[in-house]
Amino acid sequence: MYRQGLLLINTGPGKGKTTAALGTAMRAAGNGMRVLILQFLKGSWHYGELDAAQILGPNFVLRQMGRGFVKVGGAETDPEDIRLVQAAWDEARQAIYSGEWDMVVLDEINYAISYGMLDPAQVAEALRNRPTMVHVILTGRNAHPLLVELADTVTEMREIKHAYQKGIQAQRGIEY
Ligand code: ATP
Ligand code: MG
Repeated sequence: MYRQGLLLINTGPGKGKTTAALGTAMRAAGNGMRVLILQFLKGSWHYGELDAAQILGPNFVLRQMGRGFVKVGGAETDPEDIRLVQAAWDEARQAIYSGEWDMVVLDEINYAISYGMLDPAQVAEALRNRPTMVHVILTGRNAHPLLVELADTVTEMREIKHAYQKGIQAQRGIEY
């Protein structure tokens, strides 16, 4: 059967970017594909998907590559956060080219790029030249135009309303 690696982007201000990527990853895992999810910037919160990944086994690996909070904006950006983003990107690139994974999800990478912590041209070049069978999913608001242009499927989540606006705090199983 004809198979081609696709580049997908989930962006926009509405909720559902990460969770849609996780749903696609679960679908791929069910098809016997090997899935790696690298979460940029995330690290301090314990998300349910970390434990779900354990249950799904060695072909569904999720790793948090950050420390969960970032101060950004010019000189405010902590060099340690930039170092973590660079390390996450090095690992992502290596994984995409390794032949070990059928799908690689780079969760919140769009934020890292829009915060100026990662060069979009470098990411675009690596994704353009990747092995043809590897699916890649990028998530986060403010997807860079270079990456949007390169992508095959781009979805913009639009907020109609969010429970947060009613003062409802983040709920287990929905937000984390
Ligand atoms: P999710 O992980 O639930 O799919 P997301 O990836 O689309 O959300 P992010 O920008 O990564 O959204 O933000 C993550 C957190 O912010 C989640 O707890 C999510 O519920 C919350 N969130 C997302 N969109 C909104 C919004 N429009 N208003 C308030 N909170 C939001
Ligand atoms: Mg997200």
